[in-house]
Amino acid sequence: YGAGGGYGAQQGYSEERNSARRVADHYSARSNQTLEERENSPIIHLKKLNNWIKSVLIQLYARPGDCVLDLACGKGGDLIKWDKAKVSYYVGVDIAEGSIKDCMTRYNGDTDQQRRKKFSFPARLLCTDCYEARLDEYLYEDAPFDICSCQFALHYSWSTEARARQALANVSALLRPGGTFIGTMPDANVIIKRLRESEGLEFGNSVYWISFGEEYAEKKLPASRPFGIKYKFHLEDAVDCPEWVVPFHLFKLLAEEYDLELVLMKNFHEFVHEYLQKPEFTELMRRLGALGDGRQDQSTLSQDEWEVSYLYLAFVLRKRGPPPSQ
Ligand code: SAM
Repeated sequence: YGAGGGYGAQQGYSEERNSARRVADHYSARSNQTLEERENSPIIHLKKLNNWIKSVLIQLYARPGDCVLDLACGKGGDLIKWDKAKVSYYVGVDIAEGSIKDCMTRYNGDTDQQRRKKFSFPARLLCTDCYEARLDEYLYEDAPFDICSCQFALHYSWSTEARARQALANVSALLRPGGTFIGTMPDANVIIKRLRESEGLEFGNSVYWISFGEEYAEKKLPASRPFGIKYKFHLEDAVDCPEWVVPFHLFKLLAEEYDLELVLMKNFHEFVHEYLQKPEFTELMRRLGALGDGRQDQSTLSQDEWEVSYLYLAFVLRKRGPPPSQ
């Protein structure tokens, strides 16, 4: 692994590169938690709910035998989900060296936590900036992919137009015609609504806060500059770094330029209400334990965690063109 993303404390690096480095350092420094630490997390039920949402997306859109590209794969928290979906090949890419190392450890199953049967698919891991590098130059032997996933990470590409475009260009270049792009990211509509409702430029609750800079004192998104709208995001026991607003209607339009058509977009609350009705997903929720016995009554997820989940949305895009004939 290691595509030589090439970041370092060099002078003359642009602001967005420094921001990307800050994000990478933040995630790199987050060490793997023990099971006990995880269970004691103040957002344990939110983490379980997020895992349920990612599992539902994977079960709905992955098919046995699929080749998977996991952009911003992190520590490989979704490897087991892909295994359950019986995929045949997995490529994970992330900018954070520490996360890629943890992902490799998890794939090799050589920690106490992961003493389980080996994964049934071969995997390749790459450490680079997915929103700057041309990934097709590294992955031409692995492409095309049937499905691409980018979970809780696409908003890190929205710091500049060039990075947002490179993210979509990578997905489009590597997916086969008819291939699927699934993901989760912050819901800009909710974030801007919360900002307008708040007294100042900060809002949050006991588990998170979001803070905008003085340049957003008017609480309006600059129509002329839809990229680079930065805020600071803090989520207890999870995230503490800069993020960027992704206005969804612009994301949809930009994606179309790269032959990626919108199939689905749902805020997490809507997603939970809809898919929790389905028996197979109710059962999965029961096993994960995010919402107690599977009823959407928040019996274990706290109100503050449930509010955080409202800040996110799930999306599905499809690459134009007919799938190859079988
Ligand atoms: N997708 C994983 C999951 O759902 O568990 C990890 C999500 S974590 C919230 C965000 C991830 O995005 C981190 O692993 C971080 O290193 C990665 N990331 C952020 N910017 C990136 C970039 N420019 N290129 C590749 N990965 C990036």
